[in-house]
Amino acid sequence: MEVSIVHEGGFCFGVLRAIELAQEATGEHEKVYCLGPLIHNRQVVAELTQAGLEVVEDLGEVPDGAVMMVRAHGAGPEIYAQAHARGIEVIDATCPFVARVHKKAGQFAEMGYQVLVLGEVDHPEPRAIVQYARGQATIVEGPEDLRGVALDANVAVVSQTTQRLDNLQALVAALLPRVEELIVANTICEATTTRQEASLAMAQAVDLMIVVGGYHSANTRRLAQICRGPGTPTYHIEMAQEIEPQWLVATEAVGVTAGASTPPEAITAVAERLQELAENPEGCLHPHKERTDGH
Ligand code: SF4
Repeated sequence: MEVSIVHEGGFCFGVLRAIELAQEATGEHEKVYCLGPLIHNRQVVAELTQAGLEVVEDLGEVPDGAVMMVRAHGAGPEIYAQAHARGIEVIDATCPFVARVHKKAGQFAEMGYQVLVLGEVDHPEPRAIVQYARGQATIVEGPEDLRGVALDANVAVVSQTTQRLDNLQALVAALLPRVEELIVANTICEATTTRQEASLAMAQAVDLMIVVGGYHSANTRRLAQICRGPGTPTYHIEMAQEIEPQWLVATEAVGVTAGASTPPEAITAVAERLQELAENPEGCLHPHKERTDGH
């Protein structure tokens, strides 16, 4: 059995930068608060917690004068204003590509355009983007959500950085006949696009895909969805131990890809476990388990 790894998978620039900032901060301060989990990877967050990073859900939980990190997803301007007023030192790990979306959303709102943010309604990144568009923007998850939106004549679209390009294209196509003017900023980050394209190419070439990353990680879930696109059986796992030998029955080629918050060790562990099972296929001789969806 051949095991191939998507080299574009795993930590992206923004996540790596956030982890490095957190390591630096916990090295300098006894306690550093983080507004929400720094990244969507429980193992990495647990290590940082041991080093002194405390995850809080709300700014109200951060004491006055403390040190607080804003994660790569970013935060709305009111968070910075409130932190400043309370003497909280902010270590800003907002990814520069996310900050670019904030800027674009703000500019379009200033210009008087109705701003639509393509992204997940419950995800912190689009929710913060809305705040930069004077809190007036609307989050839509795809063209189907336009049914519930009263559109102005002039509309501007920005995207969550980890969206799929085909979803953005579909939204634009649905908007065009319904508005007078449309501005589109393709704010999907390059790391996302190259990872998605490389993962799709691999999914088309193998019998089975393993996608490694946190179950709460939106970009990992999307990656699994993309890999299933060509009909390739795909499992989304967090750790190597989750791989079951029967997944590999009659499998000659396995592809491994990973979300933006997956550490390299987790990817290596998955590749090693697959190699082990390939060399010792004992457990693979069981009847084939149905495998349409990992989780
Ligand atoms: S996925 Fe892109 S935008 Fe998001 S943190 Fe990584 S590099 Fe930044």
